[in-house]
Amino acid sequence: MSFAIQHSALRDLYDKVVAGERLSDADALRLFESRDINAVGAIADFARQRKVGNRASYILNRYINYSNYCILSCQFCSFARKKRDKDGFELTIEQIVQKAREALALGITELHIVGGLHPALPFSYYVDFLKTLKALDPRLQLKCFTAIEILHLAWLAKKSVEQTLIELKAAGLESLTGGGAEIFRKEVRHAIARGKESAEEYLDVHRTWHRLGGRSTCTMLFGHIEKLEDRVHHLSLLRALQDETHGFTGFVPLPYQPENNDIPVRTPPTGFDQLRTIAVSRLYLDNFDHITAYWVGMGLKLAQVALSHGADDLHGTIVEEHIFHMAGAQSPQLQTEAAMVKAIREAGRIPVQRNTFYEAVKEWPATAGADGLPNLTSTPMVNV
Ligand code: SF4
Repeated sequence: MSFAIQHSALRDLYDKVVAGERLSDADALRLFESRDINAVGAIADFARQRKVGNRASYILNRYINYSNYCILSCQFCSFARKKRDKDGFELTIEQIVQKAREALALGITELHIVGGLHPALPFSYYVDFLKTLKALDPRLQLKCFTAIEILHLAWLAKKSVEQTLIELKAAGLESLTGGGAEIFRKEVRHAIARGKESAEEYLDVHRTWHRLGGRSTCTMLFGHIEKLEDRVHHLSLLRALQDETHGFTGFVPLPYQPENNDIPVRTPPTGFDQLRTIAVSRLYLDNFDHITAYWVGMGLKLAQVALSHGADDLHGTIVEEHIFHMAGAQSPQLQTEAAMVKAIREAGRIPVQRNTFYEAVKEWPATAGADGLPNLTSTPMVNV
């Protein structure tokens, strides 16, 4: 037991975690309210080690936003545009395929594709781009659409959510993204994302997808106007659905970015808040294997520290990110594989390249070459 835990007022929660007892909502709130980040982080680090061992993962992925036109106007959103806006865009299927070809040449294994709720594109556009991308290279994994996009596509197709998902799956969809969860508490959701789907609808899209054998990730947008109790409520709904379906592969807490939107919050969540949110997520979501430190929102330096506070994944290379950067994120547009391997090694973990389903693609040695650099061209590696 670490010194931080031994002398902490949270010692009873550590004992609970060691005994394999599930934390209550009150326990989670206590952890959130604690100022003892060293103890919270150390307990989460224990839980992380027990759950996934000494490996930490990343993925070679590329984001593609097919369009930022959206019929909704969520107050927190800096990404959406109307047709009258000069910086609105929509990609043809040929343009999406071109980006996919470039990604494949970089060794990328996953395309992560989302967009706004486009006012005019037909259902066939989405089916056609999935089919065309899948035909490019069957090894390319397609992680696409948030829950609200699925509801929009079902409306376009004039079919049930289940039938829509069946058709998208047949066209090549392999995973849903976790975006759009925001905060489930009704009052907060109404204040930051009025008009968006309800918590029940978000959860039901994922439930339906899981029942069809699909897998997805889930998220929580934190650090705006929500209270700590709202975060616990959000996590409790995700934990309950995971108990029911076991369909979530991982959880990605998203630190709020405050620029270019209508929410009266001036600064993004502090480093302290981001680390404790990662840690509480690891401890409370005891039925999740993977907790991601999302470097786009956190910056790679803090995401690296989060690997010692319960996180076991750094997300991916991404290549081109619009949503967080239009909201003021200061991180770079892409992350190199070398930087992520180096960050993981320095944190004392074994770097693992994963696929969409968090399965290992490649495992790197725990230590770098004599020069201390993760020489990715010459370092021997294990293909898993
Ligand atoms: S968050 Fe999504 S649904 Fe809401 S306005 Fe932005 S793009 Fe549209």
